[in-house]
Amino acid sequence: MDRNFDLKAAISSVRAASRACRDVQQRLVSADSLEKKDKSPVTVADFASQAIVCARLEAEYPNDPLVGEEDSAALREDEQSKLLNAVVQTVGSEIRGNPDEDQVLGWIDRGNADASTLRYWTLDPIDGTKGFLRGEQYAVALGLIEDGEVVLGVLGCPNFPANDGIGALFAGVKGQQARAYALWDESDDTGAEVHVSRIASAAEARFCESVESAHSDQSTSAQIARALGITDAPFRIDSQCKYAAVARNDASIYLRLPIRADYEEKIWDHAAGKIVVECAGGRVTDADGHPLDFSRGRTLAANSGVVATSGRIHDEVIDAVRRVRGMA
Ligand code: AMP
Ligand code: MG
Repeated sequence: MDRNFDLKAAISSVRAASRACRDVQQRLVSADSLEKKDKSPVTVADFASQAIVCARLEAEYPNDPLVGEEDSAALREDEQSKLLNAVVQTVGSEIRGNPDEDQVLGWIDRGNADASTLRYWTLDPIDGTKGFLRGEQYAVALGLIEDGEVVLGVLGCPNFPANDGIGALFAGVKGQQARAYALWDESDDTGAEVHVSRIASAAEARFCESVESAHSDQSTSAQIARALGITDAPFRIDSQCKYAAVARNDASIYLRLPIRADYEEKIWDHAAGKIVVECAGGRVTDADGHPLDFSRGRTLAANSGVVATSGRIHDEVIDAVRRVRGMA
């Protein structure tokens, strides 16, 4: 397999989906407060993003399965087709040839593949929907899994600050240094290397976690931070932008501790972010220090929680996590 071809296809798909999401979010943010409470814009952007990525990848790889977060059932049930019309219009802004309803529904359903094949893509069309609705951070996250291992990942982060403005794209390819690319400039096909922090002690770390207290145990993470000697408040951002933050040294630790013992993390919430951090020089495990196991289907059923760090401090962080959670 030609990894550089895979990378080019993934970057161009994620750029196209990110543009569509940005346009929908801009309309949402400028809308009045009544409409802001309406969840339908995120639904439109979610479906359109998945259709755009699936359409782009299908053109390059007609036989590659994709495991996506969305399926078209809700759209097919929408009798007045209001949502569907909005999705078709949004997809048409990125995919040539005026695609019709059936084509768009078909692309969305390409994301229904099962996660048991040798090679497949996994997509979160909008990771961090709560952040998207608040007008804050979210990500288009696309990973490539081969033989149960993530080999490539691309994160489109439309609201993430970059040197040249707002919006950045991060890519990790197994065996290569992670790179950041201009998200909105298709001509940037080289990007720039991204490196994690080199700190040797966790006390110097800035740690990040989810904005949503329902997604990650923030009180336990505060205890862990104290145990590590970290005094600064956590950096809370939505979505896999947390992995991007660790990869490019905005933070050195990302803690995601389970709220419920039976919650299974979804592969599309972690595949792209994990490889970006690893290729930037960092480490990613679960809360017990075990590798994330992507060979179990749609979820990380063998793992509990996620800890990503800049690498040198990983064992120290895992020790503290185990101590605080009473497992040492
Ligand atoms: P974040 O932006 O980091 O809060 O993560 C968003 C992701 O959290 C969504 O894509 C959901 O798949 C995932 N999620 C939903 N419920 C939970 C939960 N109880 N624990 C952990 N993650 C969750
Ligand atoms: Mg998600």
